[in-house]
Amino acid sequence: MDLSIVVPLFNEHESLPILVERLHGVIGAMGQSYEIILVDDGSNDGSWKVIQGLTAADQRVKGIRFGRNYGKSPALNEGFRAAQGGVVITMDADLQDDPDEIPELYRMITEDGFDLVSGWKQKRFDPWTKTIPTKLFNWTTRRVSGVMLHDFNCGLKAYKGEVVKSIEVFGEMHRYIPFIAKKEGFHNIGEKVVKHHPRKYGKTTFGFDRFINGFLD
Ligand code: UDP
Ligand code: MG
Repeated sequence: MDLSIVVPLFNEHESLPILVERLHGVIGAMGQSYEIILVDDGSNDGSWKVIQGLTAADQRVKGIRFGRNYGKSPALNEGFRAAQGGVVITMDADLQDDPDEIPELYRMITEDGFDLVSGWKQKRFDPWTKTIPTKLFNWTTRRVSGVMLHDFNCGLKAYKGEVVKSIEVFGEMHRYIPFIAKKEGFHNIGEKVVKHHPRKYGKTTFGFDRFINGFLD
């Protein structure tokens, strides 16, 4: 298996069919073998029914379901355990991340030799209550970790398969994955400017309050 796409999701039933169709389109054109792993983090909006339809329609789509809402980190962790690809790419389910970035991210791992490539939402479509605290978070995390990324918490990231098999993500640790990977000995960490879109359906689960909670945990 060349490529695994891992998508953590909580209440994203409107976005899922659009996302999966776009992923088939983009990755299908790359000519690599792939799987799309949808990790339902305890949704209560019918997302799991939608996922069942998508897995029935195409065996490359796989679903994992949590019995309750554990959070984005545990959802990513389960996806990492299940992923079989030589390259693993994570992205959010809400269509804010753009599937068109996947071919170049894949190339940066397989040809440029990066262990991890993190997306950088340089032009970001989120309210200031998110973007200002996020700037502070990135500034602090750069200094503490020594990893010189602009956007640690971007959902769109690509990894060598062995990286996701070597790390454990829990709590709110998804914000620090590049730092965790570095501590495991994966030093070749790159960054790619990626397109970002406003959220179309549903609403963010990581507003200002939750961000501060994450900081203080
Ligand atoms: N998510 C999740 N579990 C949660 C909260 C969010 O799996 O408890 C997923 C969510 O469905 C989305 C991704 O994590 O696919 C990013 O969440 P969100 O869009 O709310 O964050 P933002 O883009 O606003 O930072
Ligand atoms: Mg989002």
